[in-house]
Amino acid sequence: MKQPYRLHLYIPLIITIIIMVLSAVLTIIYIQDTSINKSKKDTPENFKHYLNVTVDNEAASLQEYIAFIQSRDDVAQRFQELDKNELNNSVKDIYKRLNENVNLTHMYFIKPDGTVLLRVHDYEKDSDFVERETFKKAQTLQSVYYGLEFGMKKNYTLRVVQPWYVDGKLIGYLELGKEIDKTLDELSEYLKTHIYLAVNKELYKNVPEFVTNNMQQKTQTAHYYIAYQTFNIPEQLASIIENKKNIAEIFFEGHHYFISKSILSDVSGKELGYFIFLSDISLEHNIMYKSVEILAIILLLVSSVLIIGGYIVIRNKEKSINTLTSELDAQKEELSHFNIKLQKLYDLQKNITILTDGKRLLLANQAMFDFFWFDDLEDFLKHYNCICDRFINNDDFFHLGKVPEGKHWVETIKELPDEQRIVSMVDDNMESHAFTVSVNEFETGNYIVSFTDISHTVIEHVKLKRQISHDKLTNALNRDFFDNNIALIMQESFPQKLGVIICDIDLFKNVNDTYGHNRGDVVLKQLVNIIHSAIRKEDFLIRWGGEEFIILMKIDTAESLKKPLEHIRLQIEKAYFEEVTHITVSFGATVYKESEEINECIERADKALYLSKENGRNQVQIL
Ligand code: GH3
Ligand code: MG
Ligand code: MG
Repeated sequence: MKQPYRLHLYIPLIITIIIMVLSAVLTIIYIQDTSINKSKKDTPENFKHYLNVTVDNEAASLQEYIAFIQSRDDVAQRFQELDKNELNNSVKDIYKRLNENVNLTHMYFIKPDGTVLLRVHDYEKDSDFVERETFKKAQTLQSVYYGLEFGMKKNYTLRVVQPWYVDGKLIGYLELGKEIDKTLDELSEYLKTHIYLAVNKELYKNVPEFVTNNMQQKTQTAHYYIAYQTFNIPEQLASIIENKKNIAEIFFEGHHYFISKSILSDVSGKELGYFIFLSDISLEHNIMYKSVEILAIILLLVSSVLIIGGYIVIRNKEKSINTLTSELDAQKEELSHFNIKLQKLYDLQKNITILTDGKRLLLANQAMFDFFWFDDLEDFLKHYNCICDRFINNDDFFHLGKVPEGKHWVETIKELPDEQRIVSMVDDNMESHAFTVSVNEFETGNYIVSFTDISHTVIEHVKLKRQISHDKLTNALNRDFFDNNIALIMQESFPQKLGVIICDIDLFKNVNDTYGHNRGDVVLKQLVNIIHSAIRKEDFLIRWGGEEFIILMKIDTAESLKKPLEHIRLQIEKAYFEEVTHITVSFGATVYKESEEINECIERADKALYLSKENGRNQVQIL
């Protein structure tokens, strides 16, 4: 069974659902990914904020320790005495405790001029000159100053420098320092990000010994040492440090990381390198992919329900459509068989049968095509719109000239009596045929018109009609014709005049007597032919009896009678008759007077004829 409807509906439905599910999933991934990255992009900002807060807090506590040390008179005494050894003895326990408990890493006693008296954390080293920014600022401002700064060993260290006054006199400076590593570890933990510190190699140019011992063992890139890290160093980090880009995503040790970078500077604002943050976004991504997966499964389930439901609905619809279609096909086939049969039946009809709306031919049977010699309806319609275009314009028959304006021929012929419902048409052999026409209204405005060929009957009829009105011997009109038609002829001649002429062969008796009666008949026939060709078509020649004829002709005046009669007389006189050679005819003519009896008129013509005979025959007399 064909399944076009199902496919037409089903394939677009599936494609649409797939596109919808895919775009929903991709949109969610895009939105989620963007929001994950956005949250991680803020890491440097957050870090700097917390670093500042931490530094401020640490600095505050370091200041408290400074205050505590400065409150110790013995320490102040030793410092003033510049007694390095004794000073060291008084503070080394404090340093030791602070080192153990709060990770204090530096304790300096600096003379007012900036030379170091004592490094508690590194007793051996002293007498060097402090040039660090924190110290210089505290010296200039003569107040406490702190900040993050690299020391000689280039560790990133929080330093707090406090001027020391005894009785209003500056005895020197106390500096406490704390390497920032621990703080970074804490922040790394707190911010859930791995922190790397990349320092420009330029900074270590002047401390080759330290670099050889310490820095060169660390991971380095072309321009940077990784001076500090809270986690293993991924390979990709090198290119990210050297690169200008501030964010990136990498896969490292089975995790997905988001990397961001920010400038590392010291308390003076000098750029030292970069902080690099490595945030593990595996979890977020896993959650995202899991939720997308769940969503996709839900969408697929819903889609499957839709697809299966749709499939069932469409299949049922299709089944009923297919049933209907095959029923319809069967009906169509039946109908077409019926039509073929009908057409055959129709074509078997000997009568020309057509379907028309009166203007255009809609259908015709084979009889019509055979008659006119056309292939089919299309062929016929190339030449004519209507079968009525083929009606012969003859007053004995119905034709288009008899159709009143505003009506069509079918309406007109339908209303005529049987004997007038006859048309004449010429067939492909140029032979004219007469048909009786019958009309049946098939449906409103459409008619079945049937043409029955009655040519045979009509010819017989015409022959009979002719016999009735014509003289058998001469073919001139007979007296019956005269009697039946004279009234109409008189009426139709009006407003012209009607000339009434009697003509009689001179001494015809002699012809009969000399050449026999048959020869006399031949003369009569030839005479009628001569007169017929001498008179006009509309004139009437009537055999009145024996060798006497009446001619009726329309004329304008009585005077105009003479000329045509003389012409006829002359034609007869000139004519040659076999054996007989020549004959002559005498004419008596008159004009019909209005309101007289036709007999009176004929009597007058007779008188005129008598005059012609009296006067010597072969002449025209008009009374
Ligand atoms: P007139 O000049 O005075 O008329 O002389 P006529 O001989 O013609 O005299 P009339 O009219 O008396 O004679 C008519 C003759 O015509 C008589 C008859 O034999 C002849 N006739 C009449 N009908 C026929 C016909 O049908 N055939 C033949 N052959 N002759 C006819
Ligand atoms: Mg006569
Ligand atoms: Mg005669």
